Amino acid sequence: MRLPRFDYASPASAEEAVRLLSQAGGKAKILCGGTDLLPALKRGSKTADLLVNIKEIPALQKMEETGDGRVVIGAAVGLGRLQSLSRRQAVVQAASRVAAAELNNMGTIGGNILVDNRCWYCNRSRDWWRGKAPCFKRGGSRCYVFPSGRQCRAAASSDLAPALVAAGVKAEIVSPAGSRLLPLEDLYQADGTRPHRLTGEEVVTCFHFPPLPRGSGSSFNKVAKRQTLDFALVNAAARIRLDADGTTCKEASATVSGSVTFPTVLPLDPLVGQKITPAVLQEAADDAVKHIGFITHAAALDVPANYRRRVAGVLLRQCLVQAWEKAASEVG
Ligand SMILES: Cc1cc2nc3c(=O)[nH]c(=O)nc-3n(C[C@H](O)[C@H](O)[C@H](O)COP(=O)(O)OP(=O)(O)OC[C@H]3O[C@@H](n4cnc5c(N)ncnc54)[C@H](O)[C@@H]3O)c2cc1C
Ligand code: SF4
Repeated sequence: MRLPRFDYASPASAEEAVRLLSQAGGKAKILCGGTDLLPALKRGSKTADLLVNIKEIPALQKMEETGDGRVVIGAAVGLGRLQSLSRRQAVVQAASRVAAAELNNMGTIGGNILVDNRCWYCNRSRDWWRGKAPCFKRGGSRCYVFPSGRQCRAAASSDLAPALVAAGVKAEIVSPAGSRLLPLEDLYQADGTRPHRLTGEEVVTCFHFPPLPRGSGSSFNKVAKRQTLDFALVNAAARIRLDADGTTCKEASATVSGSVTFPTVLPLDPLVGQKITPAVLQEAADDAVKHIGFITHAAALDVPANYRRRVAGVLLRQCLVQAWEKAASEVG
């Protein structure tokens, strides 16, 4: 497969990138590591007259910790650099599980958070689609995976997304109207054709991580068909903060993705104020997975929904136990 022809720009600032995107009137796309966008252009599932490369913008390369313990990470920071966030265990684990070495070296945190939703059908080549009626995601009016469905259920595929959502991260977005901060979970929506609430004129410039009080721990895990170079069938992340006594839960959050159309936050309120034990975490995981909505098998058609829901429960329990152990080791 060959790349189609396109113009190329390498702006020096996010504001210049926004200007270029606005002038292109919807016909430009942002390029960062390119590991998701360039294959999509080859397949013809995305088109662009202009690619705006934001990877060289210095402000998007920053990685800094503020005095109050917040961490700000530029959207063009490579996945490998996230390994230095040693106290943010779920982020480190998720970044290391993305694809395999070559793609991991090229991929960026921003590109990963905004990676497109996947579907076995939509990810076929231009030739494969020739003569077939397009589905919703390709501008048509039908779905091949859920023929009676009225919307696209392509699967959310980012490994970092559940880890960053569970960590309470906010995205900084620059648009023609200025800049704003958005909780990451609000960046996503339950629409496989348009999984991110960004207009084509907006650039995510950086991610704001909240301070990490003592007694915090987190964990990420993923199940895929292959151990490497494979998207998640299901992935999950959890975060726990313990009281100064090291046994009582002060804060807990969890997110699942991979088999849903957007990273889904699960309720863990009953954990807060409880003395944590493995049995308590098992019960919390069992209750939480009941809140996962529609499970989609669009990206791997041979793995059914009931198996995926069970895997989500197992992953969630494992993540909670590991997050608790890490939190306890900080206090003890
Ligand atoms: C074989 C293969 C295996 C893969 N396995 C995995 C996996 O296991 N887990 C996983 O999570 N991903 C996987 N990926 C997807 C991809 O490689 C990674 O998600 C990668 O981190 C994407 O980052 P990037 O910088 O290359 O994104 P790009 O391709 O540059 O961008 C991705 C999308 O985000 C948009 N975008 C990028 N940056 C911004 C920004 N700052 N603001 C607004 N929009 C932006 C782009 O326009 C594009 O639509 C795989 C890809 C391939 C080809
Ligand atoms: S799930 Fe979405 S991408 Fe897949 S066939 Fe249906 S409409 Fe197309």
